[in-house]
Amino acid sequence: MFHIYCPYCEEHREEEEFHPKGQAHIARPEDPEACSDEQWGDYLFFRDNPRGIHHELWVHAVGCRKFFNITRNTVSYEILETYKMGEAPRFTAEHPEGRPAETVAAERTAAGADKVERQQGAKA
Ligand SMILES: [Zn+2]
Repeated sequence: MFHIYCPYCEEHREEEEFHPKGQAHIARPEDPEACSDEQWGDYLFFRDNPRGIHHELWVHAVGCRKFFNITRNTVSYEILETYKMGEAPRFTAEHPEGRPAETVAAERTAAGADKVERQQGAKA
């Protein structure tokens, strides 16, 4: 038994409460009608299978039921971080030791400010 940190509940919970949902950061093509069969097939069926840093989509199924991302090392199975949807990971294949925490925090603050502006824009 091990524990996973849910970034929404802001606490560690038993792994049985969570379900993996595959590779993270897969963007749906903006105009599916403009895709070739090969592009659409790649989007639907083909996933990366890297050795080392991998970003995965998980859901806190028996908790807040929210989706979030996990950065995991596929060699050691170590979970390096969890982060909310829309946030950028600190650990990447280019930065396996982690980007500076200040840089990531500034990005997340800026992304949060942008989200507030968009929500306010939607209400107006
Ligand atoms: Zn949760």
